[in-house]
Amino acid sequence: MSRKTAILFLSLLALMLFLPFTQAQEKDAEPQNGLEILMKKHGIANSTAQVTPTICALCGLTPPETSQMPPLESVLKFWNELRGADPDAVVEKVLIFCPDATGDFLVPHYPDDWKPLFEKTDVRVKGTNVLPSVTPVCFGTIFTGAPPETHGIRKYSDKYAPDPIKVKTLFDVFAAAGKKVVIVAQKGCSIDMIFRNRPIDYVSTKSSKESVEITKKFLRESDYDLILCYDGNYDSVMHGNGVHHPKSIAAMRDSIRWYLELSEAADEAWSGKNRLTAFTPDHGAHDNSKGKGTHGSDRADDTVVNHFYRLRMGK
Ligand SMILES: [Zn+2]
Repeated sequence: MSRKTAILFLSLLALMLFLPFTQAQEKDAEPQNGLEILMKKHGIANSTAQVTPTICALCGLTPPETSQMPPLESVLKFWNELRGADPDAVVEKVLIFCPDATGDFLVPHYPDDWKPLFEKTDVRVKGTNVLPSVTPVCFGTIFTGAPPETHGIRKYSDKYAPDPIKVKTLFDVFAAAGKKVVIVAQKGCSIDMIFRNRPIDYVSTKSSKESVEITKKFLRESDYDLILCYDGNYDSVMHGNGVHHPKSIAAMRDSIRWYLELSEAADEAWSGKNRLTAFTPDHGAHDNSKGKGTHGSDRADDTVVNHFYRLRMGK
């Protein structure tokens, strides 16, 4: 073997031995869990993946096996104080309102609009969502408690795959416990599509306004135990006009008002039941270079959201 060949051989050997080591080190430096990446990046202690384990804990149910985060301590603490002398009391009725894209970035810009929601809320939780910060990926995590790599929707177009959510959801847990669930959402939107083929009811509407009206009707006239009402208005309007356009802000105001109306309707219809209403957006948004709203990145505008929890004991 010539000297040149020997050097080449030794260099190759060193590279072969060293390369896997450096790759492993780089891999270890990245958070392994899709829920933690944004919590670490933005220094926020809560994840939107805690919605499912929290609602399960309030209702005395076991969360799905793939749900990876603990329930929200602040919500459980409030519930424990509220139920006081009745430590076995569980939440019996749940209304979840999903106002698409109404992220934390809006709150400091429009404090007067958000004030009534803060005032009618028992516990506000600021949390991060998951990447990419788009609707089906984020709601997949909210209603399974699992990161995208586990629940199965890793990009927007996955919502068109047959049965894209590969694990058990909050809705499956409720159905298995003999509870009645309905998802009310505009036809063809992510929430209308990704949770199909489960033993629950689905109502596809023509608009968010109609979804809100049907939810009010269900509160008055049905015996559903969990109602999910989806409002995609702010998201659609800001994509076309920009996140601060007057039309977009009108849609944001509708989201807040509709939730407060639904909360009141739930108080009337479920006055005898222990109940939860929650306002749970999936992501925020920001303007692109052309002044149109967009989202999907890891920046705070897209990934930090407030979830609002309100709990009442039945009389
Ligand atoms: Zn969305």
